[in-house]
Amino acid sequence: MTAAFSPGGAPAGPMLQVRDLHVQIATGRGTVRAVDGVSFEVPRGEALGLVGESGSGKSMTLRSILGVLPPTASVTSGQIILDGRDLVPLKQTDLNRIRGPKIAMIFQEPMSALNPVMRVGAQIAEGPMLHQGLSRAKAAERALDLMRRVGIPHPERRMRSYPHEFSGGMRQRVMIAIALACEPEVILCDEPTTALDVTIQDQILRLLARLCRESGVSLVFVTHDLPVVAQICQQVAVMYGGRLAEYGPVRDVLHDPRHPYTLGLVRSAPDFDNVREALIPIPGAPPSLITPPDGCRFHPRCKFAEEDCQVVEPPMKPLPGGRATACLHYERTIESLEAERAGQLDPVDLQVAAEQPDEAAPAAGSAP
Ligand code: ADP
Ligand code: MG
Repeated sequence: MTAAFSPGGAPAGPMLQVRDLHVQIATGRGTVRAVDGVSFEVPRGEALGLVGESGSGKSMTLRSILGVLPPTASVTSGQIILDGRDLVPLKQTDLNRIRGPKIAMIFQEPMSALNPVMRVGAQIAEGPMLHQGLSRAKAAERALDLMRRVGIPHPERRMRSYPHEFSGGMRQRVMIAIALACEPEVILCDEPTTALDVTIQDQILRLLARLCRESGVSLVFVTHDLPVVAQICQQVAVMYGGRLAEYGPVRDVLHDPRHPYTLGLVRSAPDFDNVREALIPIPGAPPSLITPPDGCRFHPRCKFAEEDCQVVEPPMKPLPGGRATACLHYERTIESLEAERAGQLDPVDLQVAAEQPDEAAPAAGSAP
């Protein structure tokens, strides 16, 4: 798939570019600025992780890209450039042609995306028949193959089942099969594996990683699971309160954060880094996106905050190594990490933390 873009010297730019995206939602209590100036890009064949607490705007970002925002929400400004073309001005009829063959999404709630009165085999086969002109028999063959690849046992029999006859994890696999069915070039994943057991999760992650590597598929991967991001993503964007806090290569950002929020996120994640001495929840609550705090949105919860953080909105500051941080005093995070690494790390603390995962669970935002 990758090679198809290069012949004739065609520009091989990023597959997906999101530029200064703003999404607002009208509610009875006021306007929610769900996404407030988010930018990132995903090269062909690469995966970008999008992480952050619940309510930070991850799902709204993905839904904007696919053009499936709730009726009360809209993209108020910004660009979403897919393979060189801005999707924001497109009509639903044009978007319908792009969804499926060009871009697909694996949603957080499988039930909302499945048709309850249609057999699952037919739901998986529908896209290839509609968009790629496959015969019913060929499409059924592909559906069967996909059901096998996403780990659905007895696929020949299960093809004729309805969604309600499946468990949550099994429905999730069906939805993943539907997303893959038209061989899309971009797959948006919204916590795609949260409902799955570890073995199946690993199988799906390997499948997605292989699609990137071998077929040049680009992924945007929303998850609370930092080790998963480290496993399959090249880049990571950390969201806080509708904005980007930090952005860059996944190893650098997660092992050597340049934003106090990223540092908090890493420390509150079980089994990720060996730097922290214990799982430490981030104190305080996420900001209101109707009346967000002035200045840096993280400042009320930030132990490094200074006076200017309360008034100055921090821009994304580019740093060496292709990374960027929206922190006015990111040096404080570096100093804190260095001090911690130079100090004593008591392995007993690590063990205690591992035995009490509940203590830290709510910090990274519990999976909805
Ligand atoms: P995330 O996926 O990071 O958990 P979302 O993108 O779902 O966050 O939500 C971003 C913000 O938009 C949150 O403040 C959330 O409360 C708000 N929001 C999401 N969906 C709706 C909706 N349908 N109506 C009003 N507000 C919403
Ligand atoms: Mg979400």
